[in-house]
Amino acid sequence: MSNSPNKNCIGCHVTKSSEEFLNEKGDALTKYSKCRNNLKIAYLKNKLQGPIISHMNITEIVYNSLISLNNTNDFYEGENEALSMNFNIEFSTFQDFILEKDGSGLSNKENLDFEIGRCIIASISEGDGYSWVYNDKNKKKTSLLLIYYCNCRIELGKCQAKHPILDKQRDTPAFLDRYNCEGTIKIEIFSELDLIMIKYSHKMLHLQPSHVETSLEIKKFIQDNIYCSPA
Ligand SMILES: [Zn+2]
Ligand SMILES: [Zn+2]
Repeated sequence: MSNSPNKNCIGCHVTKSSEEFLNEKGDALTKYSKCRNNLKIAYLKNKLQGPIISHMNITEIVYNSLISLNNTNDFYEGENEALSMNFNIEFSTFQDFILEKDGSGLSNKENLDFEIGRCIIASISEGDGYSWVYNDKNKKKTSLLLIYYCNCRIELGKCQAKHPILDKQRDTPAFLDRYNCEGTIKIEIFSELDLIMIKYSHKMLHLQPSHVETSLEIKKFIQDNIYCSPA
C-alpha cells in the first residue's frame, strides 16, 4: 500500500490516495481520476449524436437509412441525394468480439483500434454498397480518430494521376469514376470511456463501385491492359 496522504475529492467527496489526483503531467487536481473520467463520459454522452447501437447492427442501421431516402433509383443511388448519419457503439463489447474472433497480432493497442475501424468500415460497406479507404488518423488526448474516404472521391483520383506508373501496380483501378461526393466516415475511439463515435457523410449517392465493376468499362480496361502487359 502507498504511504501517500489521502485527499478528499471535491466532485464526489470520496477520500482517495493523493496519487489518484495527479494527471498525466503530474499536476495535483481537485478531483480523483475515476471521478474525472465519469465527468468526461457524462459530457460525451450529452454531446452524443445518434443512437448507441450494437456492433452487430451497423449494416442494418446504414441500410435502413439508405432505403429511407426518396431521391434514389432501384440501386439506392441518386446524384441529387445525400446520406448522413451518426451512431455510436460501446467499445468494450466490440473489443471482446474482435479479440475472440482473432486475438493474434492485436496485442498492440493501435493494431486493435485499426482492426475495430476495419470491421466497422466493412459493416458499413455492406450496408451502403460503397468502398471506403483509410485516409488519415489523429491521435488525441483521450481518443483516436480514424478517417476514411469514399474510394470514388475526386481528390483520390487527382492523387493517383500524379503517379501513373504506380497506378498499374495498385489494387485500385485507374478507371474508377470520380465524384465530388466528399464521402467521409469518421470513427473516433474513446477506449477509456468505452465509446466509439461514428460520423458518416456522403453528399452524393453516385454509382456504387460494385455496379461499375459489372459495366462495359471494366471489360475495356482489361482489354486495354492485355496489350500493355509484357509479352
Ligand atoms: Zn469525485
Ligand atoms: Zn462517394
